[in-house]
Amino acid sequence: AVVVEVEAIKTTESMLTNLNQQSILDFDKGDPTMYEAYWKSIGEDFKITISASEALSYFANPKSFCWFMLPKLEQEIRNLHNVVGNAVVEGRHIVVGNGSSQLIQAALYALAEPLDPSSPISVMSAAPFYSCYPQIAHYMRSGLFKWGGDAHAYDRDDQPYIEMVNCPNNPDGELRGPVVNKANGMLVHDLAYYWPQYTAITKPVDHNIMLFTMSKCTGHAGSRIGWAIVKDSHVAKQMVKFLEISTIGVSKEAQLRAISILEMISTNSCSTNFFEFGQFVMAGRWKTLREALEGTDILQVPNFPPRHCNFKRNYIECNPAYAWMKAQEGINLEEVMKEENIRVRGGGTFGCPSNYARLSILGRDNDFDQFLKKLPSIVKRLAHSK
Ligand code: PMP
Repeated sequence: AVVVEVEAIKTTESMLTNLNQQSILDFDKGDPTMYEAYWKSIGEDFKITISASEALSYFANPKSFCWFMLPKLEQEIRNLHNVVGNAVVEGRHIVVGNGSSQLIQAALYALAEPLDPSSPISVMSAAPFYSCYPQIAHYMRSGLFKWGGDAHAYDRDDQPYIEMVNCPNNPDGELRGPVVNKANGMLVHDLAYYWPQYTAITKPVDHNIMLFTMSKCTGHAGSRIGWAIVKDSHVAKQMVKFLEISTIGVSKEAQLRAISILEMISTNSCSTNFFEFGQFVMAGRWKTLREALEGTDILQVPNFPPRHCNFKRNYIECNPAYAWMKAQEGINLEEVMKEENIRVRGGGTFGCPSNYARLSILGRDNDFDQFLKKLPSIVKRLAHSK
């Protein structure tokens, strides 16, 4: 049993997995392990301990409509947005969730529930869309909503619909607005990556439903803490109802940890600012990736013009969490990568052709360096696959 445990630790410590005796480098998942180096450098500060007598109750704040949210967490979420300047929180309702994944479901429930129960409402997003939107909209075979596919292809004028707007977009890093723009539309803005390490903060955004997550903001994906900023109080209450029915709220331990981390970031209590670190690492990775691809058009990644960031008070390069790679038409890029023992997520899962694939930039330094070392051989293989 001990040996098995040690093996398991080894596997999770590096993204290197062992399949069929071959070492596979895994860049499929957007697991934000790159932040681990920062949090290790913080050491024991901001550690939380919870005694057996604490946080037993389901309730955190019976006076609030979001009765399972610790008041201090709500305060830290508001503080962080005010410090970064990426979202309007004044006069808005905050709902905490088990990651933003649960809040996507809660938002779909809240928007679809009051409508005609005889036909499920279409949920769509412009391709390339985050690959979990179709899964979330489809997996429960809900009577309230169904996956409606690529928003570019939506041409019904008479039916209500929900459009997921992801900005910056996973997988391609584009800054997006809604594409359907019809009268019956409802929007959910997924702003998981609207943080300074990925993109310029150009204004505090103010949409009806905005979703954020610790996973991509601080890298604490394991805590499963996300939050929604909601304008309409009825929609916010319906989202809370969804959380009540599905999980009776959100772990207090996770909320306590989130409070400590968010407070540390907002008050800038460490020698290196967290977002400075994130920007530095992301910029370095994109720079080396671009350098490695210089002079070849066999494998392309998008370019992003520098934009003025109000948080940084300067023009900055945008460094998305993923590289949306494009090979020549007809090539199955995911398969070619697999032949090089590299796992990426193929274009098909994002509603795109298979000559596209998504590479996560969020892993550990060592794994990313290994990918760079393999690039010449990948490019050679792609050239031969023509
Ligand atoms: N939205 C987007 C665009 C994402 O990329 C992710 C994570 N990959 C999520 C939502 C969900 O994140 P979580 O549930 O960890 O908060």
